[in-house]
Amino acid sequence: MVEMKYVPTICPYCGTGCGLNLVVVDEKVVGVEPWKRHPVNEGKLCPKGMFSHEFIHREDRLTKPLIKQPNGEFKEASWEEATDLVAKKLGEIKDENPDNIGFLACARSPNENIYITQKFARKVIGTHNVDHCARICHGPTVAGLARTFGSGAMTNDFKSIEEADVVFIIGSNNMEAHPLFGRRVIRAKKNGAKIIVADPRFTPTAKLADIYMEFRSGGDVALLNAMMKIIIDEGLQDDEFIKDRTKNYQRLKEVVSKYDLKKAAEIAEVNVEKLVEATMLYAKADKAAIVYSLGITEHRHGADNVMSTANLAMLTGNIGRNGTGVNPLRGQNNVQGACDMGALPTDYPGYQKVVDVDATRLVEQNWTCTLNDCAPGLTVVEMIHAAAAGDIKAMYITGEDPVLSDPDTNHVIEAMENLDFLVVQDIFMSETGKYADVVLPAAGWGEQEGTFTNGERRVQLVRKAVNPPGEAKVDWEIMKEIAVKMGADPEQFTYNNAEEIFDEMREITPQYKGMNRERLERPEALHWPCPDENHPGTGLMHVNTFAHPDGMGVFEPAEYIGPSELPDDSYPLILTTTRTLFHYHASMTRRCKTLDNELPTGYVEIHTNDAKKLGILNRELVKVKSRRGEIEIPARVTDDIKEGEINIPMHFAECAANMLTTSKELDPKSKMAELKVCAAVVEKME
Ligand code: SF4
Repeated sequence: MVEMKYVPTICPYCGTGCGLNLVVVDEKVVGVEPWKRHPVNEGKLCPKGMFSHEFIHREDRLTKPLIKQPNGEFKEASWEEATDLVAKKLGEIKDENPDNIGFLACARSPNENIYITQKFARKVIGTHNVDHCARICHGPTVAGLARTFGSGAMTNDFKSIEEADVVFIIGSNNMEAHPLFGRRVIRAKKNGAKIIVADPRFTPTAKLADIYMEFRSGGDVALLNAMMKIIIDEGLQDDEFIKDRTKNYQRLKEVVSKYDLKKAAEIAEVNVEKLVEATMLYAKADKAAIVYSLGITEHRHGADNVMSTANLAMLTGNIGRNGTGVNPLRGQNNVQGACDMGALPTDYPGYQKVVDVDATRLVEQNWTCTLNDCAPGLTVVEMIHAAAAGDIKAMYITGEDPVLSDPDTNHVIEAMENLDFLVVQDIFMSETGKYADVVLPAAGWGEQEGTFTNGERRVQLVRKAVNPPGEAKVDWEIMKEIAVKMGADPEQFTYNNAEEIFDEMREITPQYKGMNRERLERPEALHWPCPDENHPGTGLMHVNTFAHPDGMGVFEPAEYIGPSELPDDSYPLILTTTRTLFHYHASMTRRCKTLDNELPTGYVEIHTNDAKKLGILNRELVKVKSRRGEIEIPARVTDDIKEGEINIPMHFAECAANMLTTSKELDPKSKMAELKVCAAVVEKME
């Protein structure tokens, strides 16, 4: 008899965190059905979620550990052999210096795996060199909103956007990247809200706008400062809010006073009439919400961009009420959770700083250990630089693919090749896995229990539908085995299930303290902060006070710095990178047949006038070069991008955008690389 069941879980792609049912027939996931009662997406899914199951049973899943042989080929090995080798090599390098080892946690993975990854790095190895892809995604959100609001996360819940009178979207193409959040923007518009979009591309999101402001990539601070100057000049600031709830206003006034319309037009190349019109609309609204995403964060001044959005919201009193706030749309399904779990070189779980002695004592007490020291570790890009320089000798990478996803691919490959020992733990052989000494097969989405935390801080249960393929194991089980082989107290890694890890985690994570499995069983789940078991969770933050110890918001004015690399005679165009509706990163969506059929390869978007000058036709194969590399890629000639700029989606290894991007200069506040701007040239092929 055919056995069929529905297993409710959470989409594995973007930070919207939609609920869906996996349809399981005879131990195989055969489809996805909407979860009608789910509060985030109310039974709707975007194409990525709808076909998310298609990668699960792929034949190219990793099913056995692999060890690289002296001839460079991988050979299948037993778990015993593979974990012995990993424990031995990591042990040797740890004995020289624990800080010679770096860890990348996986933001696609449940919180429980991420918690164990950072515990393994800190407790078993003795290093704070643990980070993950938020560094080059929303690292500036964590840094920028923590400085201004005291908490580096979305201020409101998703539903709140429907109550806005004005929605100001900057650097976010949510109709493609976060479509089920985008649905709420459409609802807000239907409710009468005016939509402002600022973006160098006339995206599907921009096409919804009442006011579309095209501007030059990297000009964000100048644009936002000019908006604040207009508001102050017109007396539209919220004096009462500023006086009662904020600090440092005079300094903000001084800085933004330098950004008049002429300067904004010069730097950001924005149409000043539209800028004034948009500013007036935002400032005069009773409830105005800001929405942003990677267009704001992926710059060497990403934290300045984020702080400028927070300054704008505080200046107009648009915080602490539904329909207002600063709403960063997080990228990966669990990138919020990965930050919360302390997969950060500066922070333990719950954003407790590693330089804070009291926080260190709390963690030591819970883990019954002495932690190595209190100095922060290295971030993602710093680890790559250190590996290229020979200062990091081993890396343990779970579920991330820096060769494809991180800036300057050739430099990342150089770093991977330079390592003495590389462990990659993943569900497929990734671009990075090819450089590994040991590849460990991991259980994927639908094959394990745990929790994801979405972009609105909602902590949701993910459930197991089927067993992992072959000998693949759950991340925390693999790390538990290696930890014990490396001499860790087995008592400290004795977990029988994900719930036990969650319970340990919440003991040291104030924001999660009041959550437990029973409370998370409801589709609504719980938003953090949830400090005790009677607390209902917090959808709307900063209602009466900010999260700083004194309760005050802090204006953090920023001067325009601009991109690290600007166009010149040799490289006359600005290259920016984006995502598409049909792909998330690469390894999963490109293996979903339906999604790959929709968009089987990459392209470079180039403005019609620029294409004409170069004699380039739509769909023609062209060469795109930067100072770091070159790729061949089909041209997509369009009016939907600013003249002088080109755009390449980042998903496609065969024409990888990151061959061209730069990691040379990092944001000093967040260590973000400049993924959204570099100088490039497009050449017609012979
Ligand atoms: Fe999944 Fe995001 Fe699409 Fe929702 S909007 S179905 S979470 S990819």
